Amino acid sequence: MHDLLLTNARLLDPGSGLDQRGDIAFAGGKVAAIGGGLDRAQAKSVRDVGGAYVVPGLIDMHAHVYRDATALSVDADLLLRRSGTTTALDVGSAGAGNIAGLFSLVQPVTTCRLLGLVNIGHGGIFETWPGCHMPEVEDLRLLNVKACAASVRKHRPFTVGIKVRIGRSSSGTAGAAPLHMAIRAAEMAADSDHPFVPVMVHLGGELPPRLEEIVDPLRPGDILTHCCSAKDNSVVAPDGKLRDAARRAKERGVVFDIGHGMGSFGFDACARMMDQGLVPDVISSDVHVGCVDGPAYDVLVTMSKFLFLGMSLPEIVRRATTTAAKAMGWPELGVLKQGGIGDAAVLEIADRRVTLTDSMGATRVAGRHLVCRGTVAGGRWIEADPSPLPPA
Ligand SMILES: [Zn+2]
Repeated sequence: MHDLLLTNARLLDPGSGLDQRGDIAFAGGKVAAIGGGLDRAQAKSVRDVGGAYVVPGLIDMHAHVYRDATALSVDADLLLRRSGTTTALDVGSAGAGNIAGLFSLVQPVTTCRLLGLVNIGHGGIFETWPGCHMPEVEDLRLLNVKACAASVRKHRPFTVGIKVRIGRSSSGTAGAAPLHMAIRAAEMAADSDHPFVPVMVHLGGELPPRLEEIVDPLRPGDILTHCCSAKDNSVVAPDGKLRDAARRAKERGVVFDIGHGMGSFGFDACARMMDQGLVPDVISSDVHVGCVDGPAYDVLVTMSKFLFLGMSLPEIVRRATTTAAKAMGWPELGVLKQGGIGDAAVLEIADRRVTLTDSMGATRVAGRHLVCRGTVAGGRWIEADPSPLPPA
């Protein structure tokens, strides 16, 4: 007997090449069957999704969801209902000193799966929002390489790597030194079962340090977030040209992540980057209290911006499912397959004019956008509360 059966679906999983009309059944928290004409009588609950896309549960690989414990964080279940996000990676809201509660306190009251990157700063991003600001890794007394590595090891499999923010507003006069410490901590956290521990670096838009100092130390598999920011120190220079350091990093296998946020996504910068052959690997929102009500909202709205920019739906979905899963070292996420984790998002492309806004305040009127019609988390149906995008 299946717990839930979704019928009349367009099943789309770019990671496994699945693209067909049919049904999908869930039982015991897993995908029980995929195919045409699955037996309605064998399911406790049947939902006709009316031709909507059923894709793997979305992964937001850059989010701040350590709610009630860190000032910048939001409730991951809001994202789940709005956007079909079934896994959120909290990237450095907390460090070794305070990350334990993300898993022991917040996860038990949250349906969305929470994974984390441990900030190289011992207290994480403790200062940023709202009302006060201090660079969290400028004072190197707040960085403890050994403690960070130990924290990654202790909280596995939920901790998947290390976060560091580099830029004037986060590392201040310390420049790129915290990045080198984060990479050292990642090397210390590695072992035979986890030979590579990724570092995600936030590319601050403000000099110093220069882009090269932030990007050149990154190893294949490390993650550059805010890759489409539109500031002085971005992947795309103010003259519109792709910087050599960025091209070199992409060629050696650094993962380019969007991390939209409040200040880190420009339509023009993104279009110019893609025109010059550098296509981002992962689409993520960098959702936090400063952008959850726009301009970022969530990963689905960020995906709609790529629909507007002309990327195909399978390529968009790939970047918020399988590619993100692999970058996090959780390849069992972001797929739809029999026996796999029972997470899915039910999405439609709505023909409705909406205003999309980037982090620079530039707007685009889109004639269509992605809408969440429901989410399956651990085999359980959750009603949608779609993203509140303003009509055009
Ligand atoms: Zn962030």
